[in-house]
Amino acid sequence: MVTHLPALAFLQFPALDFLAIPSATLIQLAASMILVIGDINLDITAPLAAPFAEGEDCLSPELSFQCGGVGLNAAMAFARLGCATHLVSSVGDDWFGDLVLDRAAREGIDVSQVQRSPRAMTGLMFITISPNGQRTFFGSRGACADLRVTDRLSSWLNGVTAMQIAGYAFLTQSSAECADRLIAEAKARSIPVALDVGIGPSREIPTKIMQVAAEVDTLLANVTEAEALTGQPTADASFAALEQAGAREVVLKLGAEGCLIRDHGDLCRVPAFAVQVVDTTGAGDAFTAGFLAAQQWGWPLRDAALFANACGAAATMTLGAGERLLEVSMIAGLLESARLSSEWDGIRRELVRRVGERVAAATVSGSPGA
Ligand code: ADP
Repeated sequence: MVTHLPALAFLQFPALDFLAIPSATLIQLAASMILVIGDINLDITAPLAAPFAEGEDCLSPELSFQCGGVGLNAAMAFARLGCATHLVSSVGDDWFGDLVLDRAAREGIDVSQVQRSPRAMTGLMFITISPNGQRTFFGSRGACADLRVTDRLSSWLNGVTAMQIAGYAFLTQSSAECADRLIAEAKARSIPVALDVGIGPSREIPTKIMQVAAEVDTLLANVTEAEALTGQPTADASFAALEQAGAREVVLKLGAEGCLIRDHGDLCRVPAFAVQVVDTTGAGDAFTAGFLAAQQWGWPLRDAALFANACGAAATMTLGAGERLLEVSMIAGLLESARLSSEWDGIRRELVRRVGERVAAATVSGSPGA
């Protein structure tokens, strides 16, 4: 059984007041540190007025570029939520690599373990956004595939309290070796490990992903990924199949339907937040960061899942991922204004209180993102 560090435990212990330790120090003492292993890309985002067809001119009224990639998106979301975040990945030795690493560092993400590949350029994605907010990716993972084991690998886990790994890391031999080694090291140190599956790995290497699923503490997948992995036709059936394959804790992302968890033995559908969707890119990454951050703070499972839904929903409200993905103020706004059933409204109100406390604590400490 893995114990997650309750980073905000001091908020519930007024007895600490008598120690007269400044709140900023308490935050530092109790902080969690997340290690994210996953892709870094430069994303070029192009909203389209109509669905595209092969062979036609397909012009967008506006283009923008941001950081992207499952690893960097999740790291950005963790950082905005106030978690100390380290990123392990690989970029090219080029201008795009400089740009994305500079932006990541400005968000407070530790990128000192990001490798530079002499062989491949930084991953680049051209992303079209259809009128309904659905995204389509064109591009290449580029240097992400070149992530490799180094003799400093063990030290990457020093001080880490949770590790999140993207399934894409298993797509190539070099990065898979690195990911496997990190999982083994994390397990040896009782650091909880989460796997966020990804659609490419679910379709291309389902057997490997199912092997890894049995190793990790938490498995996160969207419904398409879960069905590709298990061959089951429904969310409930694929959830059960993932559990049977050995995944300890499964969290299924259901898009506009919220998410599916198992709580006290029962499957539990956690409601989504109603939003005007602009772009769904990175919603799953924001969801994952929200869920794992809440686990680190010691929040109950249902609270963590509802909070993750708020993070995922907030991420759909902005165009582009990366540094545009998540603002804590948007999450707070969604939580404040949502109308949920009475079963969930008490948890929603509790989350409003918890997020308010985080914002207040971050304001005192000057921590980024809240
Ligand atoms: P992915 O981005 O990995 O494909 P999903 O589409 O399931 O995964 O989105 C991840 C999470 O983001 C969902 O579980 C949900 O919490 C939130 N989300 C996504 N789309 C919507 C939507 N249209 N309305 C509200 N929440 C959404």
